[in-house]
Amino acid sequence: MIHMRVAYNLLIITILFICLWFFHVSIKDDAYYRKVLKGCMCVGLLMYFNRLLNVAMVEGFVGYSDALYSFERAVHFALTVMVYTLYAYFMLCLISPFGTYKKWKHLVFLSPGILACLLALTSPWTHWVFYVQDGVYHTEKCVLFVILVRAIYALGATGYALLKRHLLPQIFGRSVTLVAVFAAMQSTHFLLTRDESLYYSTLIINILILTLTTTVVDFYKDSLTGLLNREAFEQYVETEIGKRGNKAVYLIKLKNYEYIMDNWHESALLEVIAELATCMRKFVRIPAMYYLGVGRYVLIVHKREIFSEEKFFNQLRERVESTFDLNNVNVHLNLFIAVMNLENGKINKQNFYKYFTACDDMRYRSSEPLEIIRGDNIGIDKMHRYRSVEEAIERALVENEFRIFYQPIISTEKNKIISAEALIRLNDRVLGFVSPEEFIPISENNGKIMEISEYVIDNVFRFVRDHNLEDMGFEFIEMNLSVMQCMDKKLTEKLQYYLNKYGVDAKHINLEITETATNFDEERLKKQLTRIKSLGFTFSLDDYGTGYSNLVRVLEYPVDVIKLDKSIVWSAFHDRDNYITLKNLISMFHDVRRKIVAEGVESEEQKNVLTDLGCDYLQGYYYSKPVSEEEFLAFVGKYNIL
Ligand code: C2E
Ligand code: CA
Ligand code: CA
Repeated sequence: MIHMRVAYNLLIITILFICLWFFHVSIKDDAYYRKVLKGCMCVGLLMYFNRLLNVAMVEGFVGYSDALYSFERAVHFALTVMVYTLYAYFMLCLISPFGTYKKWKHLVFLSPGILACLLALTSPWTHWVFYVQDGVYHTEKCVLFVILVRAIYALGATGYALLKRHLLPQIFGRSVTLVAVFAAMQSTHFLLTRDESLYYSTLIINILILTLTTTVVDFYKDSLTGLLNREAFEQYVETEIGKRGNKAVYLIKLKNYEYIMDNWHESALLEVIAELATCMRKFVRIPAMYYLGVGRYVLIVHKREIFSEEKFFNQLRERVESTFDLNNVNVHLNLFIAVMNLENGKINKQNFYKYFTACDDMRYRSSEPLEIIRGDNIGIDKMHRYRSVEEAIERALVENEFRIFYQPIISTEKNKIISAEALIRLNDRVLGFVSPEEFIPISENNGKIMEISEYVIDNVFRFVRDHNLEDMGFEFIEMNLSVMQCMDKKLTEKLQYYLNKYGVDAKHINLEITETATNFDEERLKKQLTRIKSLGFTFSLDDYGTGYSNLVRVLEYPVDVIKLDKSIVWSAFHDRDNYITLKNLISMFHDVRRKIVAEGVESEEQKNVLTDLGCDYLQGYYYSKPVSEEEFLAFVGKYNIL
C-alpha cells in the first residue's frame, strides 16, 4: 500500500515530465499562451514533488518535524494557487487578445494570485493562513482568502472558456467542456467531503487535456503564418455559421500575390505572407485569424468582442503604405478586404460559402493600397446573382452561346433603314435571357469583356463582308465598344486584323463609344481614337444625356454622330423645358456638323416630333426591336422597298 502511493506519485511525475519535454521540443511556436501553459505544467510537476514529500512523511519515509510539515503545507497552498492563477491566465491569453495588453494589466490580473501565494509561503512564520503545532495542522482566517482566490480563478476561467469556446477550434472547445466537467466534479466532491484527494488527479487530468489539445491544434495551424489553417476555418463554418449572434468576417487578400510569384523567388512571397500575418496578429486574437493559402487571410470577429475595425484597417494601411524589401527591391503591397457582416444566424452554411466565394472572386476595382469593399452593400442575393451571371458568361463563351442581334436605324430624310446597331444577346440555359446591361459590366470587372468583344467584332465584320451594305442602301453598322475596350492598347491592331481577315472597308463600320471612357485617361483615349479614325472608321458618341455631358469636351473627340439616350428623348415628351433643351441641343450639334440619332423611339408621335426637331436618324421599338440577323435582313427587305 505504502509503495503503491509512492509509486503512483512517481508515475504521475514521470508522465508529467514526459509531456512537458514533448511539449517543449515538439512545438517551436512562441505564442504567448503556450509559454503560459508550459509554466502551468511546470508548477503542476512541482506540486507532485510536494505531494510525494507529503506521502513520504505520512508513511514515515522521511523523519517528521513540525517545520517540514509547515513547509509542505506552505508549498502546497502556494503551488495550488499558482497553478490555477496560471490556468486562468492561459485561458485569457488563449481566447482574448489579453496577451497583447500592457504589462500593468497583466499584473493587476495576476496580483490576487501573487498575494495569496505570498501569504501561504510566509505562513510558517506569520501563521496567517495556517500553522502546525505539535504535529497538528490548524487553519487561520486567511485560508479562506487563499481558497477563494483559487476557486475564483479556477471556476471563473473555466466558465469564461465555456462561454467563449465557439471562438476556439472545435477540438479546443470540446476539451474546455471536458475540463469544466472535471472541475465541477472535483469542486462538488470537495464541498461535500472536504477531501482534497480528487483535487490533484483532476487538476493533472485537466492540464494534460489542455496540453494534448494545444498540441493537436497544431494540426489546425498553418506552419508558415502560425495562424489557423483552412481546415480550422471550414470547421468553424461547419459549427458556427447559422448560430445566433452577429459576426463580421473579413477576407483579406494580397492583390500582388501573382505578381510577386512571377517576379521573385517563392521565398520572397513566403516572407511577405509571414510578415503580413505578424502585422495582423499584433492586435487580434490568434484563434480568430486564419490563413487559407494563396495570399488569403480571414479574420472573424464576434460583435460582442472589443475590436476596432478602424484601428485594424489603419494598422494595415500603415504597413502597406510603406514598402516591403524583396531582395533589395522595394515593393508596394496592395490589399483587398471584403467585409461580410453576418446578422443573427440569418445566413446558413451553404449561402455563406456562396457569399464568401463571391467576395473572393470579386475583381479589384481600385489601385489603392487598401481596397475595402463591404459585402453588405452588394447584398447576398446580388452577390449570388453576380456569381451566376459570371458562370453564364463563362458557359456562353465555352459553348458559343452568344448571339448578335441587329436593330435598324432609320434616316428621317430618306425614310429608309440606313444603318443598324449590333447588340449582343445572351440566352442562358440556366438563367434564361440576361441583359447586356447586366453582363457587360460584370464582364468588364472580371476581364471577360475582351473575349466577348472579340466575338462581337468577328461577327459584325463577317456581317459586313457577307452583305453588300451599299446595295442595301446602308452607310454602316454600329458596333458598341465598352470602356475597357476603348482603353485596350491593342484595339487598333485588333481592328486592323479583322479588316484584313474579312477584307472589309472600315467606313462600313461605326464604333459607338461612351463618355465614361473619357474619365480614365483622356490623352490616351484621344490618341487611340485618332489612330483608329485614320484606318477609316467613324465614331458615334453613345448615351448622350445620361449623367454629366459636357458639350465642349465632346467636341474634342473625333465623333461624327451623337446618339441621344432614350432618357433625354423621353423626357422631352413630359416636360416643356426639356423639350426646349433638346431642341437647342440638336441645333447646336448641327451647327458643329454632327449627325444626331434619337434612341428609344416607341410611338408615331415620338417619331413625328423628333423628325420635326431635326434628328437625322431614329432608332427604337417603333420600327423594330433588336432581332436576329435573318429577321433583320427580312425586315430591311420589306421596309426599304416601301
Ligand atoms: P445601348 O448601347 O444604349 O443600346 C441601346 C439599348 O436600348 C439596347 O438595349 C436596345 O435594345 C434598347 N432600345 C432600343 N430601342 C428601344 C426602345 O424604343 N425602347 C426601349 N425601352 N429600349 C430600346 P440592350 O440591347 O439591352 O443593350 C443594353 C446596353 O448593353 C447597350 O446600351 C450597350 O451599352 C450594352 N451592349 C449591348 N451590346 C453590346 C456589345 O456588343 N458590346 C458592348 N460593349 N456593349 C453592348
Ligand atoms: Ca449603343
Ligand atoms: Ca445608347
